[in-house]
Amino acid sequence: MANRNSKVSSTRALQVRVIHIVKVRITVDRSACIACGVAPNQCPEVFVLGDDNGKTRIVEKYSEETSDETSSGTVPSDLHDCAKEAADLCPVQAITLQEIE
Ligand code: SF4
Repeated sequence: MANRNSKVSSTRALQVRVIHIVKVRITVDRSACIACGVAPNQCPEVFVLGDDNGKTRIVEKYSEETSDETSSGTVPSDLHDCAKEAADLCPVQAITLQEIE
């Protein structure tokens, strides 16, 4: 019996939760952005410096809302790594990502 229980425990320990990211919601805090250009350089598929105030915004293709204070949009999962690298490099932590399963 002890043997059976230990087998069940080890099987449970090996279970891995597979997270399937479908999309990524991205928000840029434009009031914090200092327009250094890192985000558009690192990931031009997602970010661009806006014509309105020179600060980063989500590119038109994925943009859902853009104002002087914020820009948000949803991108496909294949752009996750690119956007994450830009977020990690942002000197003022103005970019946040929310993974949508
Ligand atoms: S890296 Fe940050 S501060 Fe620089 S342009 Fe992008 S959002 Fe703005």
